[in-house]
Amino acid sequence: MGKFEDLTGKKFNRLTVLGLGKRNSSGQIQWKCKCDCGNIVFATTSYLKTGHTKSCGCLNRENASKRLKEKKFIEARNNYRKNNFLVDNTSLVLISSKKLRKNNTTGVTGVYYNGKIQRYIARIYVQGKNINLGQFKTLEEAKKARELAEDKYFKSIIDKYKLD
Ligand SMILES: [Zn+2]
Repeated sequence: MGKFEDLTGKKFNRLTVLGLGKRNSSGQIQWKCKCDCGNIVFATTSYLKTGHTKSCGCLNRENASKRLKEKKFIEARNNYRKNNFLVDNTSLVLISSKKLRKNNTTGVTGVYYNGKIQRYIARIYVQGKNINLGQFKTLEEAKKARELAEDKYFKSIIDKYKLD
């Protein structure tokens, strides 16, 4: 056993050490810690120092929720790219944009070629509105603008998902 190190007052991730706490079932010293969220937890020196214990458990819950949101976002976006509609979770309304799709000649959803001005036009249909994303010389640029817009608008929609 090494020299006893007092961790009182030190902070490990979300945990601030308040002082010595009860020993664990194997008789090891545990520290009484206060999590940033207010919960009290006990952790051994090595668990604190190695980062095995970073919070009362709230950090893991938040990360899991974030991962789930990310997953929902990707699912919704892929679904949109496939079917060309938005799913707004708050109302569960499917907003179709079949009219746009019919006129599409580029093969990229939301991107149209205007022969008159010889430019690709990128648009996105969000919650009943057509949003203009600009005119582009190449299909690639227009596609990129469209994808960025999808990410942007989808993020705001997915952020409304209540997952807790
Ligand atoms: Zn916590």
